[in-house]
Amino acid sequence: MLALRIFFIFLIACSHSAFALEKTSSVILSGAKTQGGLLFGQVAPTAKVYLGDDQIKVAENGVIVLGFGRDAELAQSLTVILASGKKHIEAINLEKRDYKIQRVNGISKKIMNPNKKNQKRSWADAALVRKARETDSKRQDFLAGFIQPVDGPVTGVYGSQRFYNGVPKRPHFGVDYAAPVGTPVMAPASGKVTLTHDNMFYSGGTLMVDHGLGVSSTFLHLSKILVKEGDEVKQGDIIAHVGKSGRATGAHLDWRINWFKVRIDPQQVLKNNN
Ligand SMILES: [Zn+2]
Repeated sequence: MLALRIFFIFLIACSHSAFALEKTSSVILSGAKTQGGLLFGQVAPTAKVYLGDDQIKVAENGVIVLGFGRDAELAQSLTVILASGKKHIEAINLEKRDYKIQRVNGISKKIMNPNKKNQKRSWADAALVRKARETDSKRQDFLAGFIQPVDGPVTGVYGSQRFYNGVPKRPHFGVDYAAPVGTPVMAPASGKVTLTHDNMFYSGGTLMVDHGLGVSSTFLHLSKILVKEGDEVKQGDIIAHVGKSGRATGAHLDWRINWFKVRIDPQQVLKNNN
């Protein structure tokens, strides 16, 4: 929690921080500077911020969030332009990750070679998830940090190259915790429910929670969802039950963190909390 706590203390204790930053054009970043990492920062509320060429949203209190995907370029730069025109460029050098190869066997034919109808169903599912990940709210629940949503051994990690029945598929973007069907799933951070679906083709019972400024959590393969779209949840609330629905060979929770389209490593986010 240290880095985040320091960032917090800065935010809470130093109410003049935004004004100080108006003059210094500095940026304070906290979080995991790594592929799959999520960074939080504070800039002058009137500043414009760019990650590479992409403009980053600055909240009314000057908070910014940025995330890096599985294969993000290691040399990144953050440009902060003050209202006065003063410009500050902050180099961010990401740590390179090595990803595992994971072989998952015993996937049914129906899932491996979906028929037209199921293919269409999976596209419709993907469109719903995409839309939920675009949620751009002013919430800042992520600032309070994240807790592990379920107890259980980690059986799958972020970034692994996956082979299903020997066939290469997209990398795995979540962290898998093995737990019996029916085990309660807690909200890892407070937020607002943006998507619930009882049975998506690949991910089965699927739930998404918005934690603000583009940061969201997705929970897959659930057996039961206890909240509905639009509900506000608090960190630690029981929101669902572990299941094995969709493309799952055993009961587990697959938890993902997104920053808009970018897939973040939940374990990096948790590590940064502790
Ligand atoms: Zn998984």
